Amino acid sequence: MRTFTCSACNTTVYFENSICLTCGSALGFDPGSLNMVALQSVSPDGGLYRKIGRPNSDAVHYCANAQYSVCNWLSSVQDPSVTCVACDLNRTIPNLSEQGSLAAWAELERAKKRLVYSLLRFHLPLDGGGSGAGPLTFDFARDAMTGHLDGVVTVNVREADAVERERQRQIFDEPYRSLLGHLRHESGHYYWMLLVERGGQLAAFRALFNDERDDYSAALDRHYQYGAPFDWSARYVSAYASAHPWEDWAETWAHYLHMVDAVDTAEAIGMEPRAVGMVSGSTWPFSLTDAYRDGSFADLMARWIPLGLAMNTLSRSMGHNDFYPFVIPAAAYEKLEFVHRMVRSYKPQ
Ligand SMILES: [Zn+2]
Ligand SMILES: [Zn+2]
Ligand SMILES: [Zn+2]
Repeated sequence: MRTFTCSACNTTVYFENSICLTCGSALGFDPGSLNMVALQSVSPDGGLYRKIGRPNSDAVHYCANAQYSVCNWLSSVQDPSVTCVACDLNRTIPNLSEQGSLAAWAELERAKKRLVYSLLRFHLPLDGGGSGAGPLTFDFARDAMTGHLDGVVTVNVREADAVERERQRQIFDEPYRSLLGHLRHESGHYYWMLLVERGGQLAAFRALFNDERDDYSAALDRHYQYGAPFDWSARYVSAYASAHPWEDWAETWAHYLHMVDAVDTAEAIGMEPRAVGMVSGSTWPFSLTDAYRDGSFADLMARWIPLGLAMNTLSRSMGHNDFYPFVIPAAAYEKLEFVHRMVRSYKPQ
């Protein structure tokens, strides 16, 4: 993710801010320009704003979900009851009469906003892109099974509880579990439909990931009963990826999004380490590119590998778990490259 500054006073601000702590300006995220903007109120009731320094710009308002403090995105639709492009994707939100639901929803929205930001940077459609598929849709529901079905991503609200998430992580023996990881993974199932299935890429997909027509529920049962094959780490980005070709794709997709966003962030904050004595990272200092749009997959990996190593080393020096607790085998490298190719070659229908 790029770094953002308050457009009124130039202080660096977070993507999640709705106010600048230095100059006090209202701040919102403008999904059109993918930038944070400082705002000044232009309506008596305070609902409409104009971008500071841009007197001729259209008036904007905060997403209707800002009233719950779960969203800082803006909309230029002249109706304050309208939600933003990211909240428009919600079909089910947590039941706010239940204790803890508002805090859980806020956590879910924070993760979802980062996912949607990445999808917009990739220029991937949120609405099916004319493929005939419906829009990417989210159900945040308590005690539902986290998963994807026909374009609908369901996330169990309990995943927003850090204690519960850690418990699940240990039960499933995972090195990493996060809301953003879940959302990236589940969005992978949606974009498989658009980019692979409807994009006419099934043969190429099967050559790398195997045949997804293998009985899905039987494959998951097998995975949960017997675990991953002993040699999974030579073929997959994670143990769960070995369960079924769809899960392999979704895991690989999630890792690709992790890498692109981490490299983009590292470049934005001017923190791009070289890996001394390694082939990867030997082209340091790297030329500045848009990791979401430019460069080959090899370019991305040349930047990602030294960054991942440096971040793991930093995490260990603080006594934390590894920043990226995975090792990518050669077979998974090819699958990541396939994801890269699918994203880059996507054309709306
Ligand atoms: Zn400011
Ligand atoms: Zn919103
Ligand atoms: Zn999945």
